[in-house]
Amino acid sequence: MTRVDERLGWTRREAIGLLGMALAGASARSASAAPTFPKGAIIRTLLRDYAPEELGGGATLFHEHLSFPPDFLPRFIKYSAETAARNRPPNAPPPPAPPQPPPAPAGKFFMQDLDVMAEEIAIAKREGIACIVDGGHPDMGRDINFLKQVSEKSGMPIVAGAGFYNEPFYPPEIATMSEDQVFDAIMKQVRADNIGAFGEIGSWDYITKVERKVFRATGRAHLATNIPIFTHTGIPGKSALEQLDIIEDVGVDPRHVVIGHVGNLVDSNVDVHKAICRRGAFVGFDRQGGPGDTPVVPMVMALLEAGFADNLLFASDFSSANQLKRNNKEMGYAKTLTVFVPKVKAAGASDEVLRQIMVDNPRRFLAFVPKIKRKA
Ligand SMILES: [Zn+2]
Repeated sequence: MTRVDERLGWTRREAIGLLGMALAGASARSASAAPTFPKGAIIRTLLRDYAPEELGGGATLFHEHLSFPPDFLPRFIKYSAETAARNRPPNAPPPPAPPQPPPAPAGKFFMQDLDVMAEEIAIAKREGIACIVDGGHPDMGRDINFLKQVSEKSGMPIVAGAGFYNEPFYPPEIATMSEDQVFDAIMKQVRADNIGAFGEIGSWDYITKVERKVFRATGRAHLATNIPIFTHTGIPGKSALEQLDIIEDVGVDPRHVVIGHVGNLVDSNVDVHKAICRRGAFVGFDRQGGPGDTPVVPMVMALLEAGFADNLLFASDFSSANQLKRNNKEMGYAKTLTVFVPKVKAAGASDEVLRQIMVDNPRRFLAFVPKIKRKA
């Protein structure tokens, strides 16, 4: 039996058992405790639209990556190092050398290898995942046909994202386009493919003028389509509240918004996190299932104690070959469920609350009444 976390004595079997147990518990709960969805709401995946109830048999991961080109992570690391250098106070000691991307394994990049991805995603399905959202879009090099093939071959429903990522990754013309033109460009993506979420929509560091324009255009695209929005905040969680301000200012109901990567904003008082919850949006603890869990678990517990179970979403922002099951038996695409959730349980969260966060909250976030018909 494989250990998920030796210190806690949790096994993968127990982690899946936890979800199964909690699912069984759910059927015994009163009907009023089950999540309710607006009439006509669907979850739009690449292969078909689902009634939200159909995806209640497992966890949904609201922010992962299944399709990147090989240069995505190196670019991300390069821009991070440049930002850190720019933000360094004068006279500060020189920064440590930036982390280098792990050496690329020989052969095809895993996110372009259909056999590898289909096998890894099929394993995640067996480990209790019912649906996965891919947070990529064209400016990140996401290949939507590859995602469709992975979904077909693995049997995993996959939701495709759309929009624009953040300033370092924008196509150059975004800088000079009007807000209306950016809106039109987002709508063009929605009409071209069966899009189920706008995301990840980001600010790289402090939010820039161009990024504000994209956030406003994305909010307007939500109003035109009802498609939900999830964001990327710069490290550590910079501009989280300003992102929500901009989206709300154009008229978006925060219940259709996740402010993402706020696990990077380590604060035992969880002030910003609570402010996001109070306004009705979701907080995304979406880089979980690894060393970053340690500061996040107490923040999750603080938010649960404050009564915000309805506003929490967990995922892993999967991006590196090292995390594949074939390279590390304790990882894999389901690591949010198999590695992170047991830690939150050990800290005192109930099975019922964990089931709600992993199974119900993401479906409440993703379900929308479509204004644009599904493409055949
Ligand atoms: Zn991401």
